[in-house]
Amino acid sequence: MIKKRGTVMCVFCKIANHEIPSKIVYEDDKLLAFLDINPVTKGHTLIIPKKHFDSFSDCDSDLVKDIHEVSKILVKRYQAILNPNGFNLLSNMNAAAGQSVFHVHFHLIPRYDENDGIVLLFNHDESVQYSKGELTQLCQ
Ligand code: 5GP
Ligand code: ZN
Repeated sequence: MIKKRGTVMCVFCKIANHEIPSKIVYEDDKLLAFLDINPVTKGHTLIIPKKHFDSFSDCDSDLVKDIHEVSKILVKRYQAILNPNGFNLLSNMNAAAGQSVFHVHFHLIPRYDENDGIVLLFNHDESVQYSKGELTQLCQ
């Protein structure tokens, strides 16, 4: 963390301000998309709002919508250049979910085959049970 004009800037704020170099694949006045420094597949991209929010739960909804639009632009471009078989679009919230940089970002990850460096496994054999009380609270 580096202090600038009394504010603490996170690493992605510094990337958004072009104070740290990155491989930029998309930019407008509100959003930036750049290649992940440690890509799990070819084309692994991070899409961020330039404004700092810790995670998607407190990010302005219109920005999340714009991020989705950018992901669609990049999907088209990457399909033409990299020819993947699929994509994941995901955002981790809090350390328990794997978040390591606390400036909201969406990972756009082109997928090539099942052994391509990312494991997203839903183990339904270990599925959990709800109590009646939990279901009453969860469902409207
Ligand atoms: P998280 O674990 O928070 O969901 O994802 C953070 C991602 O940011 C990681 O995939 C990591 O490789 C990437 N990352 C961290 N620091 C930098 C950086 O300085 N530049 C770039 N391009 N990516 C970064
Ligand atoms: Zn930030």
